[in-house]
Amino acid sequence: MVKVTKLDEKGQPIPDDEAANEAGEQAAEEESGPTVELVIEADDGEEEEEEEEEYADISCGVLEKSTEPKLDFSPCAMPSKAGGKPVWLALDGLPAVEDLACPECHVQMVFLLQIQSSIDRPDEAAFYRAVYVFCCKKCNRYAAFRCQLPDKNVYYQPEALGTDDEPAPLRPRAPREPTCQICGCAAPKTCSKCHHAHYCCEHHQILAWRGGHGKLCGTKSSATEKAAAKQVIDDQGLKLPEYLIVTEDEPDTDEPDPALDKRIHDLEESCRENGGVVDAETAMRDGDVDDTENLKKLVDLEFLRFQRRLRRMPDQVLRYMHGNVGRAFYDDQDEDDGGILEPLWCSVMGRPGPADIPRCENCGAERVPEFQIMPQIIELLGVSVHSGMDFGTVVVYTCSQSCCEKKGAKCHYMKEFVWVQMPAAGLKPEEEAKKAAAAAAKGDDDDDD
Ligand SMILES: [Zn+2]
Ligand SMILES: [Zn+2]
Ligand SMILES: [Zn+2]
Ligand SMILES: [Zn+2]
Repeated sequence: MVKVTKLDEKGQPIPDDEAANEAGEQAAEEESGPTVELVIEADDGEEEEEEEEEYADISCGVLEKSTEPKLDFSPCAMPSKAGGKPVWLALDGLPAVEDLACPECHVQMVFLLQIQSSIDRPDEAAFYRAVYVFCCKKCNRYAAFRCQLPDKNVYYQPEALGTDDEPAPLRPRAPREPTCQICGCAAPKTCSKCHHAHYCCEHHQILAWRGGHGKLCGTKSSATEKAAAKQVIDDQGLKLPEYLIVTEDEPDTDEPDPALDKRIHDLEESCRENGGVVDAETAMRDGDVDDTENLKKLVDLEFLRFQRRLRRMPDQVLRYMHGNVGRAFYDDQDEDDGGILEPLWCSVMGRPGPADIPRCENCGAERVPEFQIMPQIIELLGVSVHSGMDFGTVVVYTCSQSCCEKKGAKCHYMKEFVWVQMPAAGLKPEEEAKKAAAAAAKGDDDDDD
């Protein structure tokens, strides 16, 4: 299950990795805008020694700005965060440029977020584990990658060398792949003049050239000049603003909201009167929603329930399904465990059927929903409503075995599966939520009949 990620709050003297790499142009990574730090919090099961059964099923992640003006995310510090550049766990064998190209427009996707979560595999092969999500804002496409490492690995010193405050440092000769100045992803291209600047693609090379590398390339400039230029190059507007993701257990009761509850109640009644079902699960299973009138009601109903659930933590940008992750390794899972946790769907429509979720290409195990991204993140990250980015929820499915990569594989990041559920036609979760809040405030509860 998910462990605590220790974070170096102060963006600290994290071991030589960035500093030493300055020359090679890896450079201090995070300079864009408000920097943040990320902590995924423990769902601490009661006490470690007992069977850890008592962890919450769902944690919600919220975005948090760091109070520090600038935070360095060292890979050793393993952040869970949104925006900025990815902080890679395995420092080489990064996802290939082709894997990060949007399948529709072929432009490089933008880093959306990464979640740190380890799993109790008996072989401890997932001692470190992170899942990364990228997106094309324009085409509304998403891609996810999973990376995991044992405690003993080529990048980091054994954890025993770290402390609570300082994670175990990088190994002095950890293999490290150059990353793109603009986006922080694998960078097979190198500036042909200075051989110091690296890029994932021509587009980012041009951006960096115009952004300042053109003036700087091949010249002997001071560290301050270099840092200033880097800042400009970094601020190309491609990256999303950076935030920590902090998780908390979801409260287990709904916040009362009389207006919303009444709307739900009335709709349920009205469905029943017409002999319709009121629960989407049943409706989907029995194909019992052919009557369009009832279908429409059910769609509204589901959406209102979705809103009601979100009220437990209105700022949530993601929901993490602890019960599902690594479930292949818990033996107590058979009878009384409630089965696989379902994501919180925003609509009756647009849910995947069993055949829609492919099994892990690497080991053949089924995939389970690990976390889902909530639509609030679009606004909270300042993504324009005109960008094309739009969803009711984005669900990331990962291998239930959390399998290790194939021996000899060049890429240490395994592609996982992403399902995008669109908001039901005409319903925008955020707008609806705002409208509902406004209506409730006015006390004008127009229950539509
Ligand atoms: Zn695209
Ligand atoms: Zn790039
Ligand atoms: Zn150059
Ligand atoms: Zn697998």
